[in-house]
Amino acid sequence: MIKKHYPPEYLDQKFHCVRCNVYAKQFWSTLKTDYRTKSSGPIAVPVLKTKNPLRNTELPESYVVSKCDHCNEFTVWHDSKIIFPRSTSVEVPNEDLTEEIKVLYNEAATILNDSPRAAAALLRLSLQLLLKEVGGKGRNIDADIKVIVANGIDPQIQKAMDIVRVFGNNGAHPGEIQLKEDPTLVKKMFELINFIATKMITSKREIDDLFESLPEGAKEAINRRDNGAETEKSNG
Ligand SMILES: [Zn+2]
Repeated sequence: MIKKHYPPEYLDQKFHCVRCNVYAKQFWSTLKTDYRTKSSGPIAVPVLKTKNPLRNTELPESYVVSKCDHCNEFTVWHDSKIIFPRSTSVEVPNEDLTEEIKVLYNEAATILNDSPRAAAALLRLSLQLLLKEVGGKGRNIDADIKVIVANGIDPQIQKAMDIVRVFGNNGAHPGEIQLKEDPTLVKKMFELINFIATKMITSKREIDDLFESLPEGAKEAINRRDNGAETEKSNG
């Protein structure tokens, strides 16, 4: 079932770590240089003739590091924003997405801050591939959504699909939606991709799995009750 995702917030005590994706306690600190001479070890910097002004220097307080209590990895922040690692705080892709879609999704996360529009276009492509997994042809998003809607889906899922489609399109072409300055809207697109996958793939798979685990006798009785109606085959 879906777990709530708590994205990293500056100076928060606990959130989903961008390094390990685990909801974990975070320790915070400012940064200080540790200048060494060449002879003092593998991370030493070359000895300078002049006195090195970086010896034990406190970095400005805008530079901050958080350390995850679960994976012990560091995340570097500047001006309250994550500057390392490159991939930013979006939900992990739904497990049931294909590897190809997960790669696109993660690539979009990596470029989100530098180019929200490019990230939006990649997410639109992710949607195109996702539609192929749930009954579309994977070529024309608009046509695929039409077919899937005709088969009967929750209107919220249709809205989610259309939001990703329109944002993705406006991101790639000059349009009315200003994705350029605002990664927040694009961040929502990641959530929508996961929402669509959860509703259309994960929930269905989970119910199919549970149904399969019913005793044979019960399944046969259901079959008889439905008067020989064909048993729906799981395709997940
Ligand atoms: Zn971690």
